[in-house]
Amino acid sequence: MSTEVLAASATDVQQASASAPAQSATAEKVNLLGMSRPQMEKFFEDLGEKKFRAGQVMKWIHQFFVTDFAEMTNISGKLREKLEKICEIKAPEVVHKNYSKDGTRKWVFRVGDGEGSLVETVLIPAEDKTGSRKTLCISSQVGCALDCSFCSTGKQGFQRDLTQAEIIGQLWMANYSYMEDVPVIERERSVTNVVMMGMGEPLLNYDAVLNAMRIMLDDFAYGMSKRRVTLSTSGVVPKIDQLAQDIDVALAISLHATNNELRDELVPINKKYPLEQLIAACQRYISKDGNESARKHVTIEYVMLDGVNDHPEHAQQMIKLLKNLPSKINLIPFNPFPHAPYGRSSRNRIISFQKTLSDAGFVCTIRQTRGDDIDAACGQLVGQVADRTRRAEQWKKKVAAQNEIIRSQG
Ligand code: SAH
Ligand code: SF4
Repeated sequence: MSTEVLAASATDVQQASASAPAQSATAEKVNLLGMSRPQMEKFFEDLGEKKFRAGQVMKWIHQFFVTDFAEMTNISGKLREKLEKICEIKAPEVVHKNYSKDGTRKWVFRVGDGEGSLVETVLIPAEDKTGSRKTLCISSQVGCALDCSFCSTGKQGFQRDLTQAEIIGQLWMANYSYMEDVPVIERERSVTNVVMMGMGEPLLNYDAVLNAMRIMLDDFAYGMSKRRVTLSTSGVVPKIDQLAQDIDVALAISLHATNNELRDELVPINKKYPLEQLIAACQRYISKDGNESARKHVTIEYVMLDGVNDHPEHAQQMIKLLKNLPSKINLIPFNPFPHAPYGRSSRNRIISFQKTLSDAGFVCTIRQTRGDDIDAACGQLVGQVADRTRRAEQWKKKVAAQNEIIRSQG
């Protein structure tokens, strides 16, 4: 749990809102922030303009973090005026931000109209042999329908999908946060890696997530390396195949159990797409295109739950399960949340699990937890901030009502 979040005052919340780009008064304007290049090219052509304007405007938005058309100096005054009238560049509203001393940055965004809903984004800096990394953990939905038993987002139930603008807006805001005070022409992109590992199941908001990832990879926008954009899924098998057709990005699988009986309990979507189908889909996802592809291996995420999935026999089952799948395994110490039915495996247990897998030839890492535990914040930061606002009670009631509807629908 982040003590800094709890220590922040109500004024911080207001200040954070004030630093977000100006919100437009007219809701009907078209938000250009979330458009991929083909979508924006079509938009300009429909306006009777040349389609190369799309690339120009995208560079202003995603490389120079400009939200005011007047600053787009290579666009004619006439077109700028036209765009001003019908378009806007609007990131989601920041209701809380927390920049910690270790370089970690967290934002809670309000999405949707009126009171809206809250989603979070976390930026984690790291140094490694390839240099400095800044990894942004992006949310794709408000809540999640898949109800994994160890996940606080799942406990909220599904509220709604994020729009393309709300997804890419998280990356925009994270980059902008380093450039606010820098003159436009000197601005640079700071975020080096994206993981779709925030709130929600990205493959259940497929089109918006796909287009947002296209913007991430586009040289007219963020120009990120495909190996540095990772989509994490709990295993929506048909969508894994579709993803392989549509884009080349890295894939992470939330495995968490090595037999169907246990996985049915921990990751209920396993009842629909059991392990055999999931592993086969991962094998199909692996590209034959050699080193250039982001699809040389999949990352296997495995949350370590005390006494549940951390026995030596589970490690042995994993070795068998993954023997024909090029994979890297990441063991995640469980992050507890209020009323969670699990505890975190002991350090010794995690290390011996790792050793069994390493001895069998797998690359197996343990996700670092920090003093101000980043993963603990995932899905919980929203709850903490909501508790601190005057609207906390209404918010809780709304979530409870929505969850009730989802439960009654089975
Ligand atoms: N829905 C997608 C992406 C979001 S979850 C998925 O499930 O892959 C991102 C990662 O955090 C997943 O591997 C998820 O299983 C893990 N996670 C969720 N709750 C956790 C918790 N309490 N402790 C540790 N990891 C957790
Ligand atoms: Fe949804 Fe992922 Fe949480 Fe499962 S782990 S409930 S799929 S967000």
